[in-house]
Amino acid sequence: MKRWVIRYVVLGLILCCTGTTTARDYFPFVYIDPGHGGPNADMTHNGDSAGGCEGPGGTAEQWINLKVALVLRDTLIARGWPEGSWWLMSRQTDTTSKTLRDRVAEANEFEVLQYISIHHNGFGAGSVQATEALWCDTGWTTDSVSRPPEARLDTLARKIKDMIRLEFNKLYPPSEVAYGDRCPSMENPNCLNCNKWITKNAMMANTISEASDISGHADEEALFVDSTSGHREDEAYAILQGWLSYCSGQGFGRLEYRYMNEDPDDSLQVWVDGRAYDLPYERTWPIPFGEACAPHCHRSD
Ligand SMILES: [Zn+2]
Repeated sequence: MKRWVIRYVVLGLILCCTGTTTARDYFPFVYIDPGHGGPNADMTHNGDSAGGCEGPGGTAEQWINLKVALVLRDTLIARGWPEGSWWLMSRQTDTTSKTLRDRVAEANEFEVLQYISIHHNGFGAGSVQATEALWCDTGWTTDSVSRPPEARLDTLARKIKDMIRLEFNKLYPPSEVAYGDRCPSMENPNCLNCNKWITKNAMMANTISEASDISGHADEEALFVDSTSGHREDEAYAILQGWLSYCSGQGFGRLEYRYMNEDPDDSLQVWVDGRAYDLPYERTWPIPFGEACAPHCHRSD
C-alpha cells in the first residue's frame, strides 16, 4: 500500500493548483506486464509451468518480453515518471513468480488505468511476420463482476498494434512486403479474444500485444538478442507511443475507398512512407512525449 501513498502525494500537489477535477482524470497510470517468467526462467528458459514460446536459437519469449518492458520502464523513469505514481510492473526480473490471476488481481487492486501485457507469438518456421493486439468486449468478468466501458473497447489495442507495425516496417526496405496485420479487422478472432484471463478480467483499458513471431524468422530472434540492433527500443517506443496516444484522447486516421459500382474484388492500396498498404488503412500518429503528459492527459478514449 506504500505505492498508494506516493501516488496521492503527487496528485495532491497538482490538484492544489488546478482544483477543478478529480485525481483520476489527469494521470496515466499503467500496468506493464512482461508475459511469462517465473522460477528457473532465464534467457533460454520460460520458467517452470509459465508457458511462452521460443526463438529458433532457443531464446525464451519471457526474456524478450522482459527486455522490451525494461526499456519501456527506463524510458518512463528517464522522463521523470516514477514507479508507483505513473506505472507499475508485474515483474522486473526473469524469475518473479506471478500467475495470470496474480497479475490481473494486482492491476485491479491498484486501480491502474491501463494494462499492457507484452508478448511475442511463436507459430513456427515459415510463418509470416505479423502483429496482433488482443482485447475482449465482454461486460462481465469470470466472477460475473460488471466491467467498465473502457475495459471492453479495442482502442488501446488498435493504437499499440498500429504503432508496432509502423516501427517494425522500418526494419525492412520499402520494396519488401509490409509487416503483416493479423487483425485487419479487430473483430477477427485473433484479436477479439475473450479466452485470455487478462482481456476478460482486467477492469481497465487493456491489451495483450503480440508484436511479432519470434519463431518464424531467424533474423527476428537475432534482432532481439543483439542488444545493439535497436529492435527492443523500437518495440518499446511503439508501445509507449500507442499508450500515449490513447491517454491523450487522440483519434485514428483512416483511409477508405468508396465509389458507386466499385468492383468489390478490386485491390486498392495507399502508399505510406514508400510502402503500399491495402485499404481500408488505419493508423495512429506518434505524438511528442511531453505533450501527452501535460494536463490534457485524461482517461477518455
Ligand atoms: Zn506469451
